[in-house]
Amino acid sequence: MQEPHLNCQPEFQRAEDASADVNHQLDAKHRPTEHRPTEHHAQPFRPFDAPRCVICHSPLSVHEQVNGKTCSRGECKTSYLRVEIQAEHRRQAALRQRSLATRDRIRREHSLDLSRDDAFGILPSNDRPLKQPSKRQIGEFVDRLTQVISHAAQIHFGSVPAEDLTDEYDKPTDATPRQLAVLGNGCAVCRGHCCSQGKGHAFISVDTILKYLNANPTARPRDVLQAYVSRIGSRTYADSCVYHSQNGCELPREMRSKVCNGYLCKGLYSVLSQLQENESSTAFVVATDQNHVLRAGVIDPAGHQLYDCAELSSDDQTTSNQAEA
Ligand code: SF4
Ligand code: SF4
Ligand SMILES: [Zn+2]
Repeated sequence: MQEPHLNCQPEFQRAEDASADVNHQLDAKHRPTEHRPTEHHAQPFRPFDAPRCVICHSPLSVHEQVNGKTCSRGECKTSYLRVEIQAEHRRQAALRQRSLATRDRIRREHSLDLSRDDAFGILPSNDRPLKQPSKRQIGEFVDRLTQVISHAAQIHFGSVPAEDLTDEYDKPTDATPRQLAVLGNGCAVCRGHCCSQGKGHAFISVDTILKYLNANPTARPRDVLQAYVSRIGSRTYADSCVYHSQNGCELPREMRSKVCNGYLCKGLYSVLSQLQENESSTAFVVATDQNHVLRAGVIDPAGHQLYDCAELSSDDQTTSNQAEA
C-alpha cells in the first residue's frame, strides 16, 4: 500500500521536522553553531517565521529557501551533504538487504537450484506506461535520422572525408557472447530503465549508419531510412526511445548504436564481474525503485524467468522465459 501523502502538512512544520531529523543524525562535533549575523555586514532579509536552516536553525532568506534546506554558510552546506550521503548509504544497504531476502525467500519457496556462486544483481526498473508514440515524436526522430543518414552516406560514397570515429562502447569489455546474452536478459527484467536516455535519437550516430552501410553495401540512403523507420514501435514506453517497446528493443543488435550495445548500468556491471569471476552463467536479479523490489527473476543465456514477489503487481505474477531479442 502506498504511504499517505504528507503535502498537506504546513510548510513550517515540515521544515521543523526535517531539521529535527537532520540534527538527530549529526553528532555534536559536526553540528555548527547558530548563525548570528554581526551588525558590520549587510544581511539579507530573514523574516523570523521563515523556514529555518535544517543545520543551524537560522531563518532562511528567500534566496536560501530557493536553493535548498540550509543557509548559505559553507559549514551548514557541508554538514547537510554529509547527512545526505549517510542517508543514501543507509537507503542502499536497506534495499540490498530487502533484495537478498527476496532472493532467499524465492529460492526456498521454489526450491531453486541456485548455487551460492550464482551472480546476484540489483537493477533499476522501467515502469513507464506504454502508449502510441505521437506524430510529433516520430517526426522529430525521423528528421534527425534523415540528417544522420545523409551525412553517413556522403562519407560512405566518398564525397566527404571520414571522420575520426571512435570504437568506444561497442560491447562491454571482455564479455563473451553467453555473458552478453545473460546481461540482455537482465535488461528484460529491468525493462529498459536506461532506454529513456535514447529519447529523440536512439543514440544513432554517423558511425551507427556507416556500420549498417558496410554490412549492406547495396543499400541506398532511402533503404536505410526505411529499415530504421519501419522498426519504430507502435506502442512504446512514454517519454522514452521510439524503439523501446514491451518486448525490449525493436532494433536488432546490429542496427543499434555502440552506446546501446555496450552500455552497462552499475547493477549489470556487477553481474558481469561475478559471472566472470565465478565462471557461472546464471544470475538472480531484482528490478527496484528507490526503496522497493518490484520484480525478481533468474537470468541465464536462454532467457529470464520472473517469480512471485511480495511487492509485484498482479500483472507481473506470471513467469516468462522469453529471451530478449
Ligand atoms: S543496462 Fe541496466 S538500466 Fe539499462 S536496461 Fe539494462 S539493466 Fe536496465
Ligand atoms: S535503440 Fe533500443 S537499446 Fe537503444 S535506447 Fe532505444 S530502445 Fe534502448
Ligand atoms: Zn545554517
